[in-house]
Parts: sequence; C-alpha cells; structure tokens
Amino acid sequence: MKKIGIIGAGVAGINSAYHLINKGYLVDLHESRDNLGGRINSFFDNKMNDEIDNGQHVLIGAYKEFIKLLIGLNTFNLLKIQKALFVKYYSNNGKESQLDTSFLYGEMGMIIGLIKFDFLSTKDKINIVLFVLKLKFGILKSKNKSILEVLKYENQSDNSILCFWEPMILATMNTQVGICDASLFINVLKQGFFAGRENAKIIIPKVGLCNLINPIIDLISNNNGNVYLKNTITEIIQSNDKIIIKNVDGEEFEYDEIIIAIPPDRISKLIGIEASWAEEFEFSPIISVYLWFEREFLDVDFASILGTNIQWLFNKILISGEMKNNSLVSLTISEASKLIEMGNKEIVDMCESELRQIFPKLNDNKLLHYRVIKERNATLLATVGIEKAREKVKSINNRIHFAGCWTDTKLPSTIEGAALSGKIAVDKIK
Ligand SMILES: Cc1cc2nc3c(=O)[nH]c(=O)nc-3n(C[C@H](O)[C@H](O)[C@H](O)COP(=O)(O)OP(=O)(O)OC[C@H]3O[C@@H](n4cnc5c(N)ncnc54)[C@H](O)[C@@H]3O)c2cc1C
Repeated sequence: MKKIGIIGAGVAGINSAYHLINKGYLVDLHESRDNLGGRINSFFDNKMNDEIDNGQHVLIGAYKEFIKLLIGLNTFNLLKIQKALFVKYYSNNGKESQLDTSFLYGEMGMIIGLIKFDFLSTKDKINIVLFVLKLKFGILKSKNKSILEVLKYENQSDNSILCFWEPMILATMNTQVGICDASLFINVLKQGFFAGRENAKIIIPKVGLCNLINPIIDLISNNNGNVYLKNTITEIIQSNDKIIIKNVDGEEFEYDEIIIAIPPDRISKLIGIEASWAEEFEFSPIISVYLWFEREFLDVDFASILGTNIQWLFNKILISGEMKNNSLVSLTISEASKLIEMGNKEIVDMCESELRQIFPKLNDNKLLHYRVIKERNATLLATVGIEKAREKVKSINNRIHFAGCWTDTKLPSTIEGAALSGKIAVDKIK
C-alpha cells in the first residue's frame, strides 16, 4: 500500500486526505500551524465568549465536493441551507429590496426574482435576462476579456453592474470587475447562480469553521496515519523511488508520493526552479469586521450592502440559532487592497458609521466590542489570463502533486476550488 504525505492542512490538503483514505492509502498530514483549516479558521473571542472565523465564509449549493467532504466527516448538519436563493439588499440611500428566487424552480425562479427586485429598472432586468439566455446557450464571448468588458458589451447598465453584478463578482472572485477574468466568472454563473435552485442557494456555517473539518484528525489516525501540527516542511528531497520531506528541525518523513497543498508563494522555497510558475500568482485581501452591539437590529441572516465600503453583512446570532441578548454582525470587505493599511479603529469607525446610516434602528444601540481581521492573501487575484498560469501547474516526476484553491480547477479561489483541487491531485496517484 502506498504511503502518501500531504503538506498543508487547508481544505485542499484535508480533502486530499479524505479521498486518499477512501481509496485505501496510508496518509500523513503535515501542517505549519497548531490547528487545521488554513484559510478557513475560527477562534474564540474571550471578551464576548463567541467563536468567530478569520472571515465569514459563504458556500452555495454547487459546492458538491466540499459538501461531500462534510457529509463524510459528519458535519453537514452544521450548515444552514436556504431553500432557494434569497438575498436582502440595503443601500446607503435608505432603499431596501430583495432578490427572492423561491417562486418557481429553475431559471424561471431567478427571472421572477429579478422582476421583483426593486433596485433595477425594467430595461436593466430585460438586459440581465438576455445575458442569462446567452449564457445558457453558450454564446457569450468571454475569452481573454475582463468581466466588465463582457458586461458592457452585453448592454449591462452602470446601475445593474453596481447593484446586481458587482456584489456577486466581489463575493465569488475577490477581484475588481475591471480586471477580473470573465471566463472564470461565467463558469461560476453556469455552475452556480444560474444552474437552478439547488445549486444557487446560499449555505452558511452555523458554527466556527474549524468545527466543520476537525473530524479529519480522527479519520486519519483511525486509518493508521498521523496528523503533524506545528510542523513546517522546509525541504523536499527526491530519491530514486521515495520522496523525503524535512521539517524545520531537520526531522525526515519518507513517502511514495506527496501532495503539496500550500499557497504558491511558499512553494518556491520548497521546490525552486521546477515550480518557477509559482511566481506568477498574486493574491487579493479581504477585511472582516466583527461588531457586537447591545441589541439585535436585523431580522435576516445576511444582506448585501450597496454604496458603502461594507459589501456584505452577516447576522451571526440568527445564523447560529443561539439565544443571546446582544447582536453580533460580521461585515465583509472584499478586494480590500485600498483599505488594508488603514488602522483597525479607523476601519471600525467607518463601518459603524455606514451601518448607522443604513439602519436608523441602531442609533441608540451601543457598540460593545469589535474585532478586525485582515487576510492579506485571502484568495487568488483572478485577473484576465490567470487560467494560463494555472495550467502550468503540473505534477513533478508523477510523484509530487499540487493542490490548492489557486491550482487549475476552472473554479475561482474558493473552498470548493480547494476541495476539488484535492480530489484532482488524488486522482493523479495510481
Ligand atoms: C477572509 C476570507 C473569506 C473567504 N470567503 C470565502 C467564501 O465566502 N467562500 C469561499 O468559497 N471561499 C472563501 N474564501 C477562500 C477560501 O477560504 C480559500 O480559497 C480556501 O480555504 C483555500 O484552501 P487551501 O487548502 O487551498 O489553502 P490554505 O487554506 O491556505 O491551506 C494551506 C495550508 O498550508 C499550510 N502551510 C503553508 N506552508 C506550509 C509548510 N511549509 N509546511 C506545512 N504546512 C504549510 C498553511 O498553514 C495552511 O494551513 C475566503 C478566504 C478568506 C481568507
């Protein structure tokens, strides 16, 4: 039986481990940090005694690979799943509306939802429907184009870009509309938001993210493998028929094949010239702000916020189903490169004032506590042409394989992309 070493215990490494075990391989998982999850992570805020994430993560029904993993780990029940796509929208000029696709199944649900969505003019709605029809028939021209170029070419107005397309693009691609690879986003639409009710619905974890994946530890050890935490791998040696990996203390581990499931900037240090493609990838930041207010002020799980720096708001107490007097909201600012150097207090003041403008109910509701989390390398920057760089990532000598949300999955740099990359890497091991 082959013994496989996995370096990196993010979603890609974890899903690799899951598939390898199911195929009967012996598996070790090596992780730098003292916990699993990588960019899906959670920890306790001691002051308020709440478990919070390194940033809100949203899944959609199309996340088949990640959902299969959670079913396998018995944590699928920790997700809150919509019946159909429903998004509440608030804007900074006091308007609110909703995109409710629950009236009918299939694309008709989306079309009826759009018709009732107040932020768009009739002309905007017709043009979106025409766009969706072209998408369905595969006649949108997107190769080597930015999504903004495609949207403009397809007569999408500035208003529909601002209110409808941009929130979706920033949430899924974490890249500005003007530089974002159109083909990659069109895949998201085809497989997700415009692929029927089951695929489009939003799924949100009810618990801290680590709880979703921690059972992999027992699964690995029950199958005679080891999980090595606080174990940074610094060297890879290819011998005749084995791969030896060395950790920072010089300790060696020997495998038949390995899967490297770490971000590309770390790969250069491990592999060098054979992975010169690693230099071609850039990442994009996300800022997450957690605000604890004295009282609840929202009656929806989450909302898109238009015309502000805040893009999405999540009502953590309602999502978790916990009974608490106070409110806890998490705010997401994607593609946050312009704000990333701002001080935490400045960011909180900005977000608090934007929220108070949108929700007058908040005016006598005191802010009790805050946390700001800046993830500088949150996701791959999905610029035009990124797919060409991803295609260069190939196994070395059929024994060193790569996984990670940045590898060639035809999906954006997401949880599902990471999970799928793990499966693709495992399929290369024969
Ligand atoms: C704030 C934020 C919000 C996000 N929101 C969403 C969302 O809503 N929906 C969505 O689908 N995706 C979202 N993402 C993206 C998603 O989290 C990532 O795409 C995914 O988790 C990446 O998984 P990965 O396994 O490819 O990489 P990582 O999670 O980065 O895992 C790599 C692991 O390798 C370890 N490592 C690195 N070097 C070494 C070494 N030398 N030796 C041993 N271990 C090493 C790291 O510590 C890490 O644990 C978000 C990301 C962030 C940061």
